Amino acid sequence: MDLGITGKRALVCGASKGLGRGCAEALAAAGVNLVLNARGEQALEQAAAAIRAAHGVTVTAVAADITAAEGRAQVLATAGEVDILVTNAGGPPPGMWTDWERADFIAALDANMLTPIALMKALLPGMMSRGWGRVVNITSQSVKAPIPVLGLSNAARAGLTGYVAGTARQVAPHGVTINNLLPGIHATDRADALDRDVAAAEAITLDEARARRAATIPARRYGTPAEFGAACAFLCSQHAGFIVGQNILLDGGAVNVTL
Ligand code: NAP
Repeated sequence: MDLGITGKRALVCGASKGLGRGCAEALAAAGVNLVLNARGEQALEQAAAAIRAAHGVTVTAVAADITAAEGRAQVLATAGEVDILVTNAGGPPPGMWTDWERADFIAALDANMLTPIALMKALLPGMMSRGWGRVVNITSQSVKAPIPVLGLSNAARAGLTGYVAGTARQVAPHGVTINNLLPGIHATDRADALDRDVAAAEAITLDEARARRAATIPARRYGTPAEFGAACAFLCSQHAGFIVGQNILLDGGAVNVTL
């Protein structure tokens, strides 16, 4: 399917690996020129070179912490006018409700709620004035069903979800859509880190921890960054202009809900 976005310009955050990288690859395959961000310069430059070589689009890499005001300013200055924004950053650490203090919540809100909101505030006006734009926020299945050890994520992502629900309907008249993609378990470093914690806590191997978690997913496997990226690219396509303010679960059926 021709996504109709060849020649558009996208900013993809958290894009050197995992789900953000999957989104960057799929957008590049659709002919979108990219500005990629992550903190680690080496991995980011490697990702940029690989995407350039594979898809022949222009790729600019900006190594910066997108959750810090200075990092965001640097990324936004390099990105300039973009048609497509994919927000993403690392998720908050696991723990228990008894552990978290105000500072832990402020850090989680900064990274996973206020950072995407700041990026939207900066880039939505340009998209609206040009009459076309797409925003995809990478959130989590924890928005639909809380994950006990990820209470900081449950809280921060719910806040972003409420913001998007209202804002998406205010920018839609200008040809701009905002939607959220909610990953269930995908085979990335983040999933590995959580599985390693379980393996250590329960004295089992990493493979056993993975197999145990895969067994809880109706699809009986983890998702892939490529599948995730394909869904993101579709939401950014010309065909998705009527999808507004939605929360789309990509979880192999793991969240057991009707709606
Ligand atoms: P990942 O494999 O660890 O990749 C995260 C990417 O974001 C890397 O490129 C990382 O590079 C970059 N990044 C992290 N913090 C950043 C920051 N402050 N500023 C700029 N770039 C940053 O993680 P993932 O699995 O793709 O997860 C992406 C998001 O989806 C996370 O918020 C995660 O909590 C959420 N999620 C993932 C899953 C899953 O199963 N994978 C499930 C539910 C939700 P650097 O470290 O070099 O910056």
